[in-house]
Amino acid sequence: MLQKIAIVGGTHGNEMSGIQLVSNWIRHGIPGAFSDLDIDCLFANTAAMDANVRFLEEDLNRQFTPQKLSASPTCLEARLAQQLNETLGPKGKSDFDLVIDIHNTTSSMGATLIILEADEFHVQLARYVKHHMPEANVLVEDEKQPQEHPYLCTLGKRGLMIEVGAQPQGLLRADVYSLTEKMAEVILAFVQLYNQQAVPALPSCDAFRFIENIQYPLDTEGHRLAMIHPQLQDRDFAELDQGMPIFQHFDGSTEVWHGDTVYPHFINEAAYHKLHVAFATAVKTQL
Ligand SMILES: [Zn+2]
Repeated sequence: MLQKIAIVGGTHGNEMSGIQLVSNWIRHGIPGAFSDLDIDCLFANTAAMDANVRFLEEDLNRQFTPQKLSASPTCLEARLAQQLNETLGPKGKSDFDLVIDIHNTTSSMGATLIILEADEFHVQLARYVKHHMPEANVLVEDEKQPQEHPYLCTLGKRGLMIEVGAQPQGLLRADVYSLTEKMAEVILAFVQLYNQQAVPALPSCDAFRFIENIQYPLDTEGHRLAMIHPQLQDRDFAELDQGMPIFQHFDGSTEVWHGDTVYPHFINEAAYHKLHVAFATAVKTQL
């Protein structure tokens, strides 16, 4: 039974689709179909929202490891994380049964549901979302224990992220907003069915399991040598086979993929630019 649910926008202050959806639901109420659920809507980083930036000092969505939450805070977002841990947590002992954290990306990832474990609840949820939104992607980030992740959504007993793109930072696109709203509503509809023990049996579905982040090639002084190859750009969750181009080097040469077949995502994500992360890889799996 999932009794207390939190829906969070503005964990990144320039991700407008989640901010707008949460703002609308705060002002006008949650859609009536979900009035039986106990839902708190809130903004995570209002200072970053006011400044229309992702964060002011450090990425808030990397502050929620058990270590950081128990250390003395070194920046605004670390302090904020500890406050949120009081509101939505404490992590590991939260009253919130589910925290849904809404993000958007500059990558062409469509509507992506990010889950941190593949237990029965999340498998049923993934199947339900794919059934009602065949266009959606399911990304499983279970390379570590859910509680070891630094994400805000791990404050709840269960945590999910909605990640929709492509949308530039700091502005709102209607297509991205609609996908965000639809995915949030499908998740809430699933929670109702789960609480009534009425989740329909659904066939297994495709999903992607995170492997690793791939860095841009750099020279010995840290200068970038290449950009995303045009044949990879915007091809999130498409198959990338050995020999296919990944980087267009500034000297005119093309760098190709040498590994096993993977499914890139977060391709050319603006927020990862400074970290030199070019894209993330996943394998295809079934849930
Ligand atoms: Zn985000």
